[in-house]
Amino acid sequence: MNNDYSIARRRMVEKQVQGKGVKDTKVIEAMLRVPRHLFVEDALQSQAYSDFSLPIGEKQTISQPHTVGLMTEALELKGGEKILEIGTGSGYQAAVLAQIVHRVYSVERIISLARRARKVLDAIGCRNVHVKVTDGTFGWEDQAPFDGIIVTAGGPAVPDKYLQQLAVGGRLIVPVGQRGSQRLKRITRVAENKFDEEDLVDCRFVPLVGKHGWREGDY
Ligand code: SAH
Repeated sequence: MNNDYSIARRRMVEKQVQGKGVKDTKVIEAMLRVPRHLFVEDALQSQAYSDFSLPIGEKQTISQPHTVGLMTEALELKGGEKILEIGTGSGYQAAVLAQIVHRVYSVERIISLARRARKVLDAIGCRNVHVKVTDGTFGWEDQAPFDGIIVTAGGPAVPDKYLQQLAVGGRLIVPVGQRGSQRLKRITRVAENKFDEEDLVDCRFVPLVGKHGWREGDY
């Protein structure tokens, strides 16, 4: 059977992304292009365009389509940016960003997930995504500053490194709160020493585990 899921993908974008308020055409076009089903295991492919997050192994999940659309839109991208993602997971969010921006630097702490994400990203030709395996609560010092930072795991507080590694004018999208529920925040570096903070929505991400996040076994 030759199923590229393009009809399911179009429906997903119309109902779950545009239908829930995402308007940025760059985000919509990017999500229409990226074959989301390739980022989950074979047995789950038929569910890849449904309105929920899905397991990707190692107790982690690929975020639901609406969340990816909302977070990407919240970066207010123009194209050409250098973006840091914390929590590569399946690689799907990185692939969506890669359609819009110049370069994506993505950090994952679990090696098996990073390896699988790299394979899929290569298979679909995302050469502008760089994946590194390490504790992402330190950011990615060598490549800073970033025009945007997107954190796809929830910690108890915003690690200082993210603020330090954000370019002036850049935006940080980050879930902050308890282990089971967080608020999604947007922090804009309006000047060298001035950050504006906005509260976006309630959300529920897997824990950000690391030196400046939750301790392993603590969640
Ligand atoms: N953006 C992903 C979502 C993955 S879930 C996607 O599109 O599929 C969040 C991921 O963050 C998990 O894979 C988890 O292992 C990872 N993670 C948690 N704490 C981390 C840390 N300190 N550094 C890097 N990755 C981390």
